[in-house]
Amino acid sequence: MARLGQLIRASCRHRAAFAEPPNVTTDCCVVAKRQRVFYTHGRCAWLSLERTTVLQWNIDAGIQEIADNLIATRRDFHAHPELGYQENRTAGIVAERLSHYGMRVRTGVGGTGVIGVLEGALPRPTLLVRADMDALPLQEENDVEYRSQNPGAMHACGHDGHTAMLLAVAEALSHWRSELRGTVKFVFQPAEEGGGGARRMIEDGAMDDPPVDAALACHLWNNYPVGRIGVRTGPTFACADRFSARIKGKGGHGAHPDQTVDPIVIAAQIITAFQSIVSRNVSPLETTVISVTSIHGGSAYNIIPESVDIGGTVRSFSEPLRDHIRQRMEEVLRGITDAFGAAFEFDYEVGYPPLSNDGEMADLVRAAATEVVSSAEVWENEPTTGGEDMAYFFQKVPGCMFLVGSANTEAGLDYPHHSPRFDIDERALMVGASIMLCAIKRYLTGAV
Ligand SMILES: [Zn+2]
Ligand SMILES: [Zn+2]
Repeated sequence: MARLGQLIRASCRHRAAFAEPPNVTTDCCVVAKRQRVFYTHGRCAWLSLERTTVLQWNIDAGIQEIADNLIATRRDFHAHPELGYQENRTAGIVAERLSHYGMRVRTGVGGTGVIGVLEGALPRPTLLVRADMDALPLQEENDVEYRSQNPGAMHACGHDGHTAMLLAVAEALSHWRSELRGTVKFVFQPAEEGGGGARRMIEDGAMDDPPVDAALACHLWNNYPVGRIGVRTGPTFACADRFSARIKGKGGHGAHPDQTVDPIVIAAQIITAFQSIVSRNVSPLETTVISVTSIHGGSAYNIIPESVDIGGTVRSFSEPLRDHIRQRMEEVLRGITDAFGAAFEFDYEVGYPPLSNDGEMADLVRAAATEVVSSAEVWENEPTTGGEDMAYFFQKVPGCMFLVGSANTEAGLDYPHHSPRFDIDERALMVGASIMLCAIKRYLTGAV
């Protein structure tokens, strides 16, 4: 261990930064006060994450190439965004890189998905690590040199960074292949943004050959500053369902409502009653959302229309609760339309399942995170009512999805996800990739 510390001090270009000899804490990371050195095969990355100073990270020549590639790769993906199930260019680059790193590669999984298998010295256990590759149907408003070159498509959620980070992890781990006591399965999935790419990859065998024992993923997170990490045990992302309903009345003259069954008045009652489901039928200790996000009906000031269409989304954190809400919505629709002499159609589309982090896997990520950032910056994040299709993998095996802070308010890099101005502080990429590497090494050495 002492030898490792000496090696790093000898090889680190920034050794002057160490006031004292670094304390060797694990076989992959060295900690010197609040500075963190990430060690790979005699090369190190130096991350300064002091909150009180301008964040900066510097790296030794050995790993410089991986880090430079990480940002260049992210910018390349950012400039060439592709929507769900159309990630052909991205998937092609991913497959080529994974092959170059000596992995067994499978392409076209569940559409445009790519899987790379890195077999270590022992076949088991197998850890699945995943990145999503798809962009959003948005017109980018950032004026940066790497802005989207594809009109109407933009990486506004950070998936470009996820894919680049996982490629950097794949490259670094490929150097360690002989030291791995187990297998790492790199999964690059299509269509996370509503298209259910994870489910299609699983249906196409992503959890087989070799069978998967556990799973990890991360999400860049502009709700946190760069350097902060969110890890949570239990429910983290919500069920993300959508619904639509048609209220069918009887149209007529606006001056003679008594001769009609007015679907606009009925729709108003239904929308109000839907909100009562959340406040009266769900425990106040449970988080639930019913949002009616569209209402369409009518064409003129003096005509009561035949029908009104409403639609929206439901978010909850458990499948039984989701079923209960769906049932109550149907009962409300039936009861109110009956009372007014109208009829209804109801379409409830079950979306992503809730994502729940396993306790042991979350502990593993926390331990890995404190090797890269200070423990004060490893937060227990709040659950989010956003959906995340990594949940399909976690239905099969224990896993953890953690959040990697990527905002920098001073630099104007704090727009929310899905904004046409979304962008990240790219130092988050090295932080996220480092934590993922440490977590993988911990899992494959049994050190939690
Ligand atoms: Zn998103
Ligand atoms: Zn996302």
